Amino acid sequence: MKVLVMNCGSSSLKYQLIDSESEAVLAKGLCERIGIDGRLTHKPAGKETVAIEVDMPNHKEAVSSVLSHLTDPVCGVIGALSEIEAVGHRVVHGGEKFARSVVLTEEVTTEIEKCNELAPLHNPANLIGINACAELMPGVPMVAVFDTAFHQTMPKKAYLYGLPYEYYENYKVRRYGFHGTSHSYVSKRAAQILGKDAASLKTIVCHLGNGSSICAVDGGESVDTSMGFTPLEGLVMGTRSGDVDPAVLEYIAGKENLDVSGVLNVLNKKSGVQGISGVSSDFRDLDAASKDGNERAAAALDIFAYRVAKYVGSYAAAMNGVDVIAFTAGIGENDANMREKICGYLGYLGITVDSEANAVRGQEKVISTADSKVTVMVVPTNEELAIARETVALVK
Ligand code: ADP
Repeated sequence: MKVLVMNCGSSSLKYQLIDSESEAVLAKGLCERIGIDGRLTHKPAGKETVAIEVDMPNHKEAVSSVLSHLTDPVCGVIGALSEIEAVGHRVVHGGEKFARSVVLTEEVTTEIEKCNELAPLHNPANLIGINACAELMPGVPMVAVFDTAFHQTMPKKAYLYGLPYEYYENYKVRRYGFHGTSHSYVSKRAAQILGKDAASLKTIVCHLGNGSSICAVDGGESVDTSMGFTPLEGLVMGTRSGDVDPAVLEYIAGKENLDVSGVLNVLNKKSGVQGISGVSSDFRDLDAASKDGNERAAAALDIFAYRVAKYVGSYAAAMNGVDVIAFTAGIGENDANMREKICGYLGYLGITVDSEANAVRGQEKVISTADSKVTVMVVPTNEELAIARETVALVK
C-alpha cells in the first residue's frame, strides 16, 4: 500500500510517500512559505530533486502542488493519484482524548479542534492540512497520529503539576509530553535490535534534536517524559530554555519591559544553547566555537549535557533501574562527543561507553562495552515510517 505521510506547519508542509510493503520512501519533500509566496522541494527516489517557486496562497494549493509533482510524468513516482491508498497526518496535540492514532472522521476532526487551544501554533495548521487533503483526495482514508498519544500512559504522579487541582479539572493544565511517535518508535526498535521483548525492558530514550526530550519507557509504555504542558519544559534545547523557575518570568518582564507572551517568546526562541552561547543553536557551530576557545559555547555544551544526565538519573530512579539508553534525533544520532559527555555522568549506573563503537553517525548501533550494566545505543528515529505503519494498521 502507498501511504502519503503529511506534516503540516503554519507556513510549511513536509511529506513522504512510503510503500508500506517495502517501507521504501518513494518521494519526499517540503513546501515552504505557504501563504507568503511558495517554494517546493521535491525529492523523488532515484530521480533528480526539483526545487521551484510555486504560488501557494494556502495549504490546499500546497497539497495540490505536492500531488501534481507525485504524479508528474517526469519527476513523479506514481501513475495516478488513485495509487495513494491512505494518508497519515502528524497531529501535535491530542489532549487526553487521544491515547492512540485514529481514523479521521468528521467527529474526530471536531475533537481535534477542541485541542486547538492546547497547541494554538500547531494543531490549527495540522487541521488545515487534513481538510486540504480531504478535499483533494475524497474517499481516501486518513489517519491522525498524535505527538502526545504515547505519553497518555503516564501515571497521575508524573503528569500532574503541583498546582491547584481545579486547573487540571477546569483548564486541562497537566503534563502531556511530545515527540511521542519518536519515543515509541525508538524504544520498540531498540528492543527489536537487541532481540528482546519491549515489555521486559526499562528504556530511557534521549531524543536530542533542535527540540529535545527524554522519555522513560517501562515495559513498552511511557511513564514519564521531560516536555510538559508545552514543549518548553525539560531539557535545555536549541533555542528553548527548558526548566526555569517560573518567578523568572515576572522578573525579566520588569527588567526588559515585556509582557508574559514577550517573555515566553524569549524562553522559546532566544534561549537554550543559542541564548547561552550567543553563537548558534546548532551543535556543530557550538563545537567549532568551543574548540576555538569560546567559553560561552563551551558552557552551553556543558549545561546541555548536564541537564540530560540529570533527567536520565531521575528516570532511572523513577523506574527503579534502566536496561537500555537510546540516543536519537540530530544530536543524539550524530554527535559522538555529546553522547560521550552525557555518558560520562552515568558511571554510577555501571555504564561504560566503547569509544570506538561510539564514533558512529546515523546508524543503529550499540555503543556501550560488553560488560556495561546498561546497554547504550544509537537508534535513528523515523517518525514518518512510524506514522505510515500506524496508518496502514488502522485502514487495512
Ligand atoms: P528537529 O527535527 O527538532 O528540527 P533534528 O532532530 O533534525 O531537529 O536535529 C537538528 C540538530 O541536530 C541541529 O540543530 C544540530 O544541533 C544537530 N546536529 C545535526 N547534525 C549534527 C552533527 N553532525 N553533529 C552535531 N550535531 C548535529
